[in-house]
Amino acid sequence: MELFLDTKIEYLKGVGPSRAVLLQRELGIFTFRDLLVYYPFRYVDRTHFVSIRNVCDTNNYIVTKGYITRLELIGTGRTQRLAATLTDETGSMELVWFQGLKWIKDALKPNVEYMVMGKPNFFNGKYSISHPEVEVLRNNVDDAIKQTFMPVYSSTEKLKAAGLASKGISKLVYTLLKEAEGRIAETLPIYILQNNRLMKREDALLSIHFPENNELLQQAIYRLKFEELFFLQLDYQYSKKKRKESTQGFVFSKIGESFNTFYTTCLPFELTNAQKRVVREIRNDVKTGMQMNRLLQGDVGSGKTLVALLCMLMAKDNGFQACMMAPTEILATQHFAGITKFLASMDVKVALLTGSTKLSDKRKIKEQLLNGDIDILIGTHALIEDDVKFANLGFVVIDEQHRFGVEQRAKMWTKNHIPPHILVMTATPIPRTLAMTFYGDLDCSVIDELPPGRKPIKTVHQYDTDRLKVFSFMEKQIALGRQVYVVYPLIKESEKLDLKDLMDGYESISRRFPLPQYQISIVHGQMKAADKDYEMDRFKQGITNIMVSTTVIEVGVDVPNATVMIIENAERFGLAQLHQLRGRVGRGGEQSYCILMTSDKLTYVGRERISTMVRSNDGFEISEADLKLRGPGDLQGLQQSGVVHLKMADIVKDESLIRLTRDIVADILHDDQELKKIDNAPIRLYLQSRKKEQNWSKIS
Ligand code: ADP
Ligand code: MG
Repeated sequence: MELFLDTKIEYLKGVGPSRAVLLQRELGIFTFRDLLVYYPFRYVDRTHFVSIRNVCDTNNYIVTKGYITRLELIGTGRTQRLAATLTDETGSMELVWFQGLKWIKDALKPNVEYMVMGKPNFFNGKYSISHPEVEVLRNNVDDAIKQTFMPVYSSTEKLKAAGLASKGISKLVYTLLKEAEGRIAETLPIYILQNNRLMKREDALLSIHFPENNELLQQAIYRLKFEELFFLQLDYQYSKKKRKESTQGFVFSKIGESFNTFYTTCLPFELTNAQKRVVREIRNDVKTGMQMNRLLQGDVGSGKTLVALLCMLMAKDNGFQACMMAPTEILATQHFAGITKFLASMDVKVALLTGSTKLSDKRKIKEQLLNGDIDILIGTHALIEDDVKFANLGFVVIDEQHRFGVEQRAKMWTKNHIPPHILVMTATPIPRTLAMTFYGDLDCSVIDELPPGRKPIKTVHQYDTDRLKVFSFMEKQIALGRQVYVVYPLIKESEKLDLKDLMDGYESISRRFPLPQYQISIVHGQMKAADKDYEMDRFKQGITNIMVSTTVIEVGVDVPNATVMIIENAERFGLAQLHQLRGRVGRGGEQSYCILMTSDKLTYVGRERISTMVRSNDGFEISEADLKLRGPGDLQGLQQSGVVHLKMADIVKDESLIRLTRDIVADILHDDQELKKIDNAPIRLYLQSRKKEQNWSKIS
C-alpha cells in the first residue's frame, strides 16, 4: 500500500520532469510521501477580510479584497515594475510586481472583485504589497478552495517562477490527496486511536492541508504531533532496551569494605534521602551485568560528588578502578583535594592527572594505573588520551556534563574490554521534557533535595547607578568576616573588551577597598595557570576578601566562607550560567546573597531572566524558564547536533503529550517488545516501511 506513496513526484498530475527537479532541489520533495508531509506553515482565514483602511502593520500576512482601479507599467528594462492600486470602500493601497509583468497585467481586469493576500510594506507614506497573491473573489468557489482556512506553504523564488507559489503547491497537494484516497496506511493501532481519541491518519493529513474548520485543524495537528512523538519515543526506548540487552557490563556483586568503612566512619554527615535513593539506583544498575549509562541531575550544592565517591568505592570493592573527569583544572584539583581529605584515614590510592601534571609524575601515574596501584584517578580531559590506560577500569564519573561531548563520553567506553559503567553528572538541570526527548537514551537520576541547614540565597537586582549602595553592603559583609565574589561576563568574541571591563571594575573596587585594610584577588582567563591557582588559593584560605574574576570560577568552586556573589552585566549571562554562579555562595551556614547588576536598559529577555533569578532558587524551575525564553532558535542547535528533529511537536508546549506518548510506548514495549501482537501490527509495518524508505533515500 505504501508503495503508492513512494511514487516519484514527477508522476503527479501537474508536476512533470522540470517541476519535479525544482521540487527536489528547492524543497527536498522527491516522492508523493514527501509532498504529503510538506505541511502548510500557516493558514489564512478567508472569511475574514481586513479593510484597506485598517491595514496597519507590516508583520502580518493579511487577506483583503477590492477592485483594481489603476494598473501601470513603470520604468523600462530590468528595473521595470507593474504597479496597481487596490481600492475598497474604505481606501486604497498599492500592489507591486517585479516579475511576470506582462502576464499579470493582462490577467487583472477592472470591475472584478479580487481577494488579495500578502505581507504589507510601509513605504513613502503608504502601504503596499509586493507580489501579492491575487484571486478572483467568487461566491461559488470550486471545492479545492472551499474551506475557510486556506493553507499557506512556504515556497521559493524559483518555484514561484515555475507557478509553484503557495497556491500552486496547494493545488498539487490537493491533487495528491484525491489520488491517495484509501491508500494512506494507518500507522497507529486502533486501540491507541480509540483510547486517545485520535483522528485517523488519512483524515489528519487531509485536515492539516485543507481544514474545513478550526476544530478539525486542531485535531489533525494533535494527531500528527502524537504520531511524531510516539515514534520518537519508540525509537529511543526500543534502542535503549536493545543496547542494554546487548552491551555487557561489569558486575559489581557486593558492597564491600571500603564502602562500608567510609560510610560508617568517615562520612561527617548523614546522606540526604535523595542521595541515598540515587546510590541505590546506581547500585541496582551495576549488579545486573548490563552496562550503566546514567545521567545524574542535581542542583548546585546538592552533593553529587559524594554520591560519585560512594560509587567509586563500590567499584574498588569489586576489584575495579574508577575515574572522575572534570571540565577544568581548578575543579579537578578541588575534587582531588576534597576526596583525598574524605579518604584520609582509608587505604585508597587516589591520583590527580591534568594537563599541567609534571611529565615525570605523569609517567609514574600511568605506570601505577596499569599495574593497578591507583584505585581512583581524578582529572581533566587529559584522562581521555589514548595513552592513559587502566589495569581494570570499571566506573567512570563525568562531572558537569554539558562541557563534554557525546564523543568524549564514547571514548571512555573503550578503556576496558567491556565498557565501564558511566555516570554523567550535571548541575545545570535539564528541563524534564528535554531530558525525556533529547536524552532518552540515558537513564536518569535526580537529587531533588539539598543537605539540611542551607539557607536559601537572597537574590536582588540592582542597577549600575546603585553601585555605592552595593559597595557599602560589601563593606558590611566583609566586616563580618565574609568574602565576596565579583564576576564579569566573558564572551569569546570580545575578550579584549571584557578584560577592560574587568580591569576597570577591579580598579574602582580597589579604590573603594584599599590596601592594607582589604585584600583583593583577581583571576581571568589570560593569566598563567600558576598565577590563577595562587590567587584562587589566597581566596580559598581567606587571605583575600574580594575575588574579582571572569567566569573561570563558574563551575564547582567551593569556598564556604564566601557569602556574596555580585554579577556584573548580569543581563549578558544565560540563566543556567547565572544559576551556576549563584551556586558559588550559600555553601556554608551563613545567609548568602546574590546581587545582579545591570544597566537600566534591559531587553525583554534580559528582564525576564533577572526576574526569574530573583524569584527562584530552584535549578529545575530555572531551566524550564530558560527553555521557554530561549525558544526554538537555540533548540535548533540541539537539533543540529543530531539529537533529534521535531517537525510538528514543540518541546516546550507539548510537554504533556511527550509524557503521554512516553508512557504509552513504555507499556507497549513492556508487554510486546518485538511488536509481534496482531494489535500492534500497524506499528511494525510502519517501522518496516520506514526502514525501506531510509534505504531508498540513501541510494538516490
Ligand atoms: P554539587 O552537587 O554541586 O557537586 P557538592 O558535591 O560539591 O555539590 O556538595 C556541596 C557541599 O555539600 C560539599 O561541601 C559537600 O561536602 C556537602 N554535602 C554533600 N552531601 C551532604 C549531606 N548529605 N549533608 C551535608 N553536607 C553535604
Ligand atoms: Mg559539583
